[in-house]
Amino acid sequence: MDEEFEVLIIGAGPSGISAAIALARAGVEVVVLERGEYPGAKNVYGGILFTHQLLKLLPDAIDSAPFERAVTRRRFGALGDDREVAMDLKVGHWREKPYNHTMTALRGRFDRWFAEQAEEEGAQVFAGFMASELLVENGRVVGVKVKPGDDEMRAKVVISGEGAQAFLARQVGLMPPKLPQRHMITNIKEVIGLPREKLEDRFLLEGNEGVAMEYFGEPVKGFFGMGFVYTNQESVSIGLGLTVHDLITSKETLNDFLEHFKNLPTIRKLIEGGESLEYAAHMIPEYGYNHLPKMSMPGLLLVGDTAGLINGSVYHEGTNLAMGSGLAAAETIIAAKEAGQDIGSAEALASYKEKLENNFVLKDMKKFRKIPDFFNNKPHILRDYPKHVTQWLEDYFTISETPKDEIERGIINKVKKDIGLFSFAKDMFGVGRSVR
Ligand SMILES: Cc1cc2nc3c(=O)[nH]c(=O)nc-3n(C[C@H](O)[C@H](O)[C@H](O)COP(=O)(O)OP(=O)(O)OC[C@H]3O[C@@H](n4cnc5c(N)ncnc54)[C@H](O)[C@@H]3O)c2cc1C
Repeated sequence: MDEEFEVLIIGAGPSGISAAIALARAGVEVVVLERGEYPGAKNVYGGILFTHQLLKLLPDAIDSAPFERAVTRRRFGALGDDREVAMDLKVGHWREKPYNHTMTALRGRFDRWFAEQAEEEGAQVFAGFMASELLVENGRVVGVKVKPGDDEMRAKVVISGEGAQAFLARQVGLMPPKLPQRHMITNIKEVIGLPREKLEDRFLLEGNEGVAMEYFGEPVKGFFGMGFVYTNQESVSIGLGLTVHDLITSKETLNDFLEHFKNLPTIRKLIEGGESLEYAAHMIPEYGYNHLPKMSMPGLLLVGDTAGLINGSVYHEGTNLAMGSGLAAAETIIAAKEAGQDIGSAEALASYKEKLENNFVLKDMKKFRKIPDFFNNKPHILRDYPKHVTQWLEDYFTISETPKDEIERGIINKVKKDIGLFSFAKDMFGVGRSVR
């Protein structure tokens, strides 16, 4: 395979395939290398595919893609060991297309389908081939070494959509050789099969409706991270993530955390009697806007997780940022080609970051730029508040003949003892500022 292409893409995930479709459609010669046996074979995520970028590329995808359910109900909660406080949002018209751009999907099926769309546009997708090293000549990336075998593939531009571990981006120094332990979220996920009728009864769903539940607090034993439960057609995706630093500190395994989460009273009944179908672990690079790597060098662009493009706020978005960056990379290259430029030159690739700054990808990440550092520097907030707040609310709503005034005074005394009134005010101010 010692050939030269216009664009070579590493990874058939959402970022790489979005770029491939847009490039192939514009007549750019594009080849994708995917190390998995098929696209999606090695891919792990929670379960929500945010579709606004997908529909920009493939307007009919809402009907033709292998989605599981449309998320019409979202629940955000804090769990104590046997208490829960939650915001539960259900919106009737999210039952209608485009379903609030929030669909559940299983990556093994979705990624395969998505890569087929790229092939239909003219991209060549080679599954079972891994880019093992970037080839660099005179400071410019000119291709990759491919495994299995000793072949080299050369290209005018390489787009790396290799995902969270970013081995190749680290090889050329676009990010530090060691990934930051406080910003890498390590995740575990299990898919648990349940008969459709039982699942719909348990989660109060009709037709293709789905639910997304996300919880702070006890699922990750108060560390920086969260647990999730998402519904598929006949299964539930359940999992959690916390920073590598916290996992090491806890001296527990991810599996210990998952078993603990599954056995919490609020969760146990939801999955009772289900059959374990899949089990996997994976990283999320939650560097945040303030710690993003350099996203390009001559001959190379980074997209999606490789570039740390994750909105890790309350939105927990990754797939749409991956697709948005893949599209921005493609637009950059197409514009350079149309202008008659060398498409891998530094000048041609310079506008990529600017494109991301001007669309939702970096605008949203910038808005939430303080979150990763804030919660890393104030670990007590996620550790202590879920258990205290659920306790204060329990006190407030416990029915007895104790006069309500006395109950309220009791709660204020607890706030003083548990946190301190000044510290409470300071924490709330800090949380507010971290999202502004
Ligand atoms: C547990 C978990 C839950 C998540 N939940 C959600 C969610 O619900 N919603 C959401 O929007 N986002 C979620 N995310 C984030 C989301 O999965 C990512 O943001 C998104 O998948 C990034 O897409 P990508 O194309 O950049 O990378 P990936 O999806 O990781 O794809 C990378 C691809 O590159 C291939 N590859 C890697 N190295 C090589 C190589 N050297 N040569 C060839 N191929 C290679 C891989 O096999 C893979 O196919 C979650 C992530 C995790 C880990």
